[in-house]
Amino acid sequence: MNASSAALRPLQKPGRIERFAYRHRRWLPWFHLAMFVGFLALVVVPLALPTPPDGARLFSNFTLTANFLIWGLWFPLVFVSVIFTGRSWCGVLCPMGASSEWANRIGLKRRVPRWVRWEGTPVVSFIVITILAQTVDARSFPEGVAEVFGLALACALLIGFLYGPGHHKRPWCRHMCPIGLTLGAFSRLGVVQFAPKTPRAGGETWTDKGVCPTFIDINRKQESRHCIECMRCVQPGARGGLSIQMRMPGTEAGNIRDHHPHSSDIWFLFLGTGTAIGGFLWLILPQYQAIRQALAIWAINHDWLGFLNPGPAWLMSVHPAGREVFTWLDFSMITGFMLASAVIFAAALSACTALGSWVAGLLGADRNFRTRFLELAYQYLPVAMVSLVLGLGSELFGLLQRGIGPGPTHWLELALFAGGLIWSLLIGHRLLQRQGLAGARLAVALAPSLLGCILAGLAWWPALFGI
Ligand code: SF4
Ligand code: SF4
Repeated sequence: MNASSAALRPLQKPGRIERFAYRHRRWLPWFHLAMFVGFLALVVVPLALPTPPDGARLFSNFTLTANFLIWGLWFPLVFVSVIFTGRSWCGVLCPMGASSEWANRIGLKRRVPRWVRWEGTPVVSFIVITILAQTVDARSFPEGVAEVFGLALACALLIGFLYGPGHHKRPWCRHMCPIGLTLGAFSRLGVVQFAPKTPRAGGETWTDKGVCPTFIDINRKQESRHCIECMRCVQPGARGGLSIQMRMPGTEAGNIRDHHPHSSDIWFLFLGTGTAIGGFLWLILPQYQAIRQALAIWAINHDWLGFLNPGPAWLMSVHPAGREVFTWLDFSMITGFMLASAVIFAAALSACTALGSWVAGLLGADRNFRTRFLELAYQYLPVAMVSLVLGLGSELFGLLQRGIGPGPTHWLELALFAGGLIWSLLIGHRLLQRQGLAGARLAVALAPSLLGCILAGLAWWPALFGI
């Protein structure tokens, strides 16, 4: 048998999904093109339309329809999809990622600089975009939507054009996209895994050689985080490359020590979701309004009247016709509140995780404190994901309310919320098991996790269910 026929000998029978995806992947560029046209229509067309009149209905006014499709449907469903199909959104549908790759094809292909490769870059990008989306009120006005998504698209094109040597790379998707960061972290809960058929030792590494657009050394691949499921490394029947496998939800998170745990996931989980909570809470907390009022009086008393003027429309919402004009005071308050929420939330969850790691160590868990901390922090993935989906999906649940009534909808939301908390605890349990604990010692070490879940639940509760 010659070398090429040996290379094509199958190691295992490829699954139906794998064969289907491989056979049809040539259609992907057409999907991307269609999505790009749809994306432009949703983002650009509302800019040319008049402000929806009072009483306009969701599906009879294009601006409202576009807003619902982006925030009410797309955002929450993309997060949910990651559980069932991994980052298929990124590889199969996302027009921004495809545009970035297209820019890379014709671009300069420079080496990816260190500041882009720094693992904190996507977390910073997430925090900046999340705060900007609030200050320009992207959820209510098409100008805000166009700015936030236009900015992301421009950055995706620029980064793709400048960086990424080799063939069809996506440095934006790997290193900077705030949505990619979120989907990457949550994909560790998902049931889909692309695994090497002939794994090589040495652990997950970054490489700009090879076919992978997100710089994965495919034979050393251990984690789902950066895999956008582009199918480029999947070839049913070949000995090399990756194969598609199914697993139980949460398998990767619960066994994170085998899947390249990384602190950037934790920065996102603690700081990123803390910022997102702040984005929900400032709208409803009376304390926020009280502080704003006090600051406004202070500004008047100290002749800081410029603080009470509106700023530039690219930085804050200035929509007199829409009855919303933010001042520098609002801009500072929203930004400060969201950053403070991030810090407080991160400090609370860090304290619980540190306590859990310390107690686990006292009770005989393996590895050092830092590694135990890193592993245990992954237990907060489910509660973060479910809370984000519920928060972002408020419009979707609003529609459901019209169908099945407010009572059942409320119970459904509560059940999902409770499910997220319980799932987090189950993952915490599994993580402690892998650290070598069992029985009563495990139960004691799990207590700080329970406290952390309760704190996370309490932080999200007002945003999801009111005060
Ligand atoms: S990482 Fe971001 S830009 Fe890239 S494909 Fe995913 S969502 Fe789109
Ligand atoms: S690992 Fe394979 S499927 Fe995943 S992004 Fe890289 S080339 Fe695409």
